[in-house]
Amino acid sequence: MAAEAPLAPRNKASLATARVVPAVLVLIVAYVTYVVIGPLTINYLLNAPQHVRPRIATGIATPIVWLFLLIPVAATYLRLLLVVLRDPGYVPQGDDESKKEPPPDFSMRDVFVCDSNGHPIWCYYCRNWKPDRAHHNQDVGRCTLKMDHFCPWVGGVVGERSLKFFIQFLFYSMVLCTYLTALMAFFVHETLHRNSNIHFCVALGLGAFFLLFTLGMVVTTVQYAGMGWTTIEQAGRGNTIHLAILLPPELQAALNGSVPTAPPSALSRGNNHFTSELDDPSHSSYFSNTNTKNWALRRASRSEFWRGTITYPLTLPTDRPPLPAPQPRAFAILETPPGMNPWDLGSTSRNLTAVFGTKLHHWVLPVRHSPCCDHSSDVSFYPLGPQFEDFLEDAGLVQSAPPRSAGKDSYGRGSTVSEKRRRKRALERGWQHGERPDGWWMEKEERRRRKEERRRAREEGRDGDVVR
Ligand SMILES: [Zn+2]
Repeated sequence: MAAEAPLAPRNKASLATARVVPAVLVLIVAYVTYVVIGPLTINYLLNAPQHVRPRIATGIATPIVWLFLLIPVAATYLRLLLVVLRDPGYVPQGDDESKKEPPPDFSMRDVFVCDSNGHPIWCYYCRNWKPDRAHHNQDVGRCTLKMDHFCPWVGGVVGERSLKFFIQFLFYSMVLCTYLTALMAFFVHETLHRNSNIHFCVALGLGAFFLLFTLGMVVTTVQYAGMGWTTIEQAGRGNTIHLAILLPPELQAALNGSVPTAPPSALSRGNNHFTSELDDPSHSSYFSNTNTKNWALRRASRSEFWRGTITYPLTLPTDRPPLPAPQPRAFAILETPPGMNPWDLGSTSRNLTAVFGTKLHHWVLPVRHSPCCDHSSDVSFYPLGPQFEDFLEDAGLVQSAPPRSAGKDSYGRGSTVSEKRRRKRALERGWQHGERPDGWWMEKEERRRRKEERRRAREEGRDGDVVR
């Protein structure tokens, strides 16, 4: 079936465009700089024509302001080109044509994007597994992490490593274009009744065009970044996403007790290493025949979002000396409702901070990469937001986080903490920081914990009596 090696197709026309357009952009800026310094400053303001008084101060200030505004544009553009041409966040290309076991990079995290079978998404062209939010781009023939869009103006793909510099470049360009448009509009208007300098009119046209263009781009890109979407995700926001979510310890135990090992029919399929219990029709779902006695698992499996479970590792390698078997990790496969964004961190400022950074100089200078480029968390590739927490609750995997003992009641019931304050606290901690929040308790586990707390409280009280 997959006999011919898939060659990542590249759209040569748009790649060539992407190589030419930056050079054109540099030429345009060089021309406008010439207009500001030559025809405007030297020939018009300093060496004024007849009937016009020379304006020395304006003549000195005008090119200085221009160059001052040009510096951040040039700096962000160079940084952007460097990142885009070298590595905007490409996913490595595999050299194997067939899918094998996904690397533990996926299954050792608690949450990852998967297909309806619970496997990570496979890119046929790159011959590799796609991490969350990675997208394959036909123009460059590569998968890019958190790809935003293909941009010919910057010569390639805008992804997680280049989005910040892209927005900075757009913003500084917008400021520069505003200055150029205002400047040229003033002097075109001033020279209107004489014969206007043709260079002024061309510069005004260029300034106005790029002002509108950059303004539109800044508004949409910042808006999407503030909502926690990429441009591509925003375009397909009606779609659903399958997520593999690690089952809480209690359900792990309940499930792994009854997990069938890989069926023999699957093991004897010769060189097809890619077997999982879910590939075998007899194990399409553990929960269609509710053979588990665990009521929490049964309840979770009745959720409308539930699509089954998968246990990693899918197969144990047979060509190595026997080692202690790795700990099995069972995941629930859930399908999100359309339009849900698990990576929306709950507020515009949080989402923008994930792109720009926490300090002012992170926002202003094109030096550091975005905080969202850090994938060291064991929980997920990208921090997860309150929509994800609500989703877990709706799917019956997690009970709402017990309010922390605000009053006398140590186990939360009858607490005076309002829903609003609880939501606020949920934003402050947990998934957004790559940590498991307190809500990662199953009800039964939670009850056990409360019971334990009460018992301890009772014992302490008795001890106190004895001492007294
Ligand atoms: Zn790809």
